[in-house]
Amino acid sequence: MSLIVQKFGGTSVGDAERIKNVASRIARSCADGNSILVVLSAMSGETDRLLSLAKSIVSDPRGRETDVLLSTGEQVSIALLSMALEELGVPAVSFTGSQVKILTDNIYNKARIEDIDSTRLRATLDDGKVAVVAGFQGVDAEGNITTLGRGGSDTTAVALAAALEADECQIYTDVDGVYTTDPRIVPEARRLSQVTYEEMLEMASLGAKVLQIRAVEFASKYKVKLRVLSSFCDGIGTLITTEENIMEEALISGVTLNRNEAQVMMVGVPDRPGVASSILGPVADANIEVDMIVQNSAADGATDFTFTVSRDDYDLTLKILNEIAETLSAREVRGDRNIVKLSIVGVGMRSHAGIASRMFKALSKENINILMISTSEIKISIVVDQKYSELGVRVLHSEFGLSEASGVK
Ligand code: ASP
Ligand code: MG
Repeated sequence: MSLIVQKFGGTSVGDAERIKNVASRIARSCADGNSILVVLSAMSGETDRLLSLAKSIVSDPRGRETDVLLSTGEQVSIALLSMALEELGVPAVSFTGSQVKILTDNIYNKARIEDIDSTRLRATLDDGKVAVVAGFQGVDAEGNITTLGRGGSDTTAVALAAALEADECQIYTDVDGVYTTDPRIVPEARRLSQVTYEEMLEMASLGAKVLQIRAVEFASKYKVKLRVLSSFCDGIGTLITTEENIMEEALISGVTLNRNEAQVMMVGVPDRPGVASSILGPVADANIEVDMIVQNSAADGATDFTFTVSRDDYDLTLKILNEIAETLSAREVRGDRNIVKLSIVGVGMRSHAGIASRMFKALSKENINILMISTSEIKISIVVDQKYSELGVRVLHSEFGLSEASGVK
């Protein structure tokens, strides 16, 4: 008998009809002889609705009471689903985070799980019942309700799968798996049957919004077999696992596009030790995350310092740079928010040379100018003008043969 954790996202439990559908799906899994632990999100839009309700009272809702409020969304969905299961003759018991005792630290709104008491869940499962757990919430050592940050029910699911040593953690969502790229840009994009944790982390952070990044990190740490699948159609989805478990290794697994990037530049800074830290220090102090960094020095002893930040931080970053430009004797501060980041990701890159030049050649054939480049062991990212977004993705997707059946090239 396998123990499977099944997590259903907001759209999967968006209304009564969908909740009944989810209940039938769970009933089928039980009938197949599996022991099922369910983790739910709030009904779609509910967390946003609660947040805007709070915003109509305070301008910046955060802290303890925000968590008391937000955690109600998941409490509604677990109760409704448990009723739906009972209606189908499947015994089920709902649990809030504090009833399970998902112990977290006391950082409200973005708490981290410290420990999970699996006693009650195990007893429920051993009793032949389905345990239905509220995602996204926990309880601190003093008994205060906490939440794990937006999208946190993915993390709850993986953490429970790890704690109960489940055979698999299945994340049901509105797409049927992880794709080689965004199918809205490349209709021939292919669903990956398997991908490594590492690749998934790169793809998630690059904007393939399928799974909360923290959940993938957790899964990787505890070697939880993760599977992303659709709650609206049947299929095997995408399995996220260790590199050793991957049968056939593709050179490149995916092409991602991040539209939420902006470029800033400090031009003509005297080239001396400490320049990078004098520029990035104040940026970090303002809690702005820096992504790609390029520094190039000119013959005249001056250097141009270029980096990217998320678009929401663009104005603030420019303001900070303008403030420090004079003390650093920089010639000019410039920026461009009309850029995007394109990346190719794949563990196969580790063992193959020449991927970068192949990437650059494919782009040059289409006259796409590359503004910045950065590489890691399993990823190459470039910055280009945003007018090349779709073209760039299509070119790279076809260059690395990602539409083809095998994906190996
Ligand atoms: N309901 C929470 C949110 O909307 C948590 C989740 O869905 O994972 O962020
Ligand atoms: Mg989600």
